[in-house]
Amino acid sequence: MNEYEMKIHKLCQELIPVFDELDEETKGIIHEHVQYCPVCDNMLDKRSFLNESIENAEVNEGKDFEIKPLKKLIHINRGIRLLMILVRVLVLFVISFNTLRFNDSWDALALQTFQSGAFLFYLPASIFLLVFTWMFLNKKWLIYSLVVDLVILLTIWQLQLFY
Ligand SMILES: [Zn+2]
Repeated sequence: MNEYEMKIHKLCQELIPVFDELDEETKGIIHEHVQYCPVCDNMLDKRSFLNESIENAEVNEGKDFEIKPLKKLIHINRGIRLLMILVRVLVLFVISFNTLRFNDSWDALALQTFQSGAFLFYLPASIFLLVFTWMFLNKKWLIYSLVVDLVILLTIWQLQLFY
C-alpha cells in the first residue's frame, strides 16, 4: 500500500464500525478499498455478521420470548386478581344466602349461623387464596388480600358483641 492507500485504510478503520450510517459514496470508497485490503474486508464482514446476529436476536427474543409472554403474564395476573376477588364475594354471598334460607328472621340464631358459616367457609377459603396469591402474585397483593380478609373476619366476629 502506498501512502495514499494507507490514509484511506486509516479512514476505513474509523468508518467501518458506523458503516450503516454512511452515505452511498463513502460506502463505495470503502468497498473499493476492501478489494485490496484484507484487514478492512475482514472487519466489514464481521460487522455485517454482527448486525445480522443482533437483528435475529432482537426478532427472536424481543418478539417471541419477551414481549408476548410478558403480555400474557399481565393478562393472567389480571385474571387471577379478578378470580381472587370473585371467589371471596361468592363465598360471602353463599354464606349470607344460606343464613337467610335457614332462618326466618335476623335473630341470634341467624347471626350464629352466619358467623359459623364465615369461619367454616370464608376462613379456609381466604387461607387458600392467600397461599395462592403468595405463590402467583406480588407481595403488594398479598398484603392487600390479608388486610381485606382480616377486616371482613373481624367485622363478622364483632357483630356478636354488638348484638
Ligand atoms: Zn484497509
